[in-house]
Amino acid sequence: MAIKSSENLKINELGDSNVVICPVCGKATEMRLFENVDGSMVAHLLKKAPQNIAVCPKCATVFTVNPHYIEEKKNGTVCTLEPQDLTVLVKNR
Ligand SMILES: [Zn+2]
Repeated sequence: MAIKSSENLKINELGDSNVVICPVCGKATEMRLFENVDGSMVAHLLKKAPQNIAVCPKCATVFTVNPHYIEEKKNGTVCTLEPQDLTVLVKNR
């Protein structure tokens, strides 16, 4: 799976989530979490927020993640990723 990238695009790895049931393949797995930061001038002017992405290692579906969960994870708060925090962005099959 390729994540679209450009000069201004920065992908930060945020580690793995807790075990969550993937809403697409139904398997219990730890989602890989990424933060997609667009550092371009256009994004800056539009005050575009970083996009939070989760990838299911079982079916390679890409999800956007509830920003609240990412915020809590970054703050070190004990938080649980739930299937309803995931919105399908790219389905690979
Ligand atoms: Zn899956």
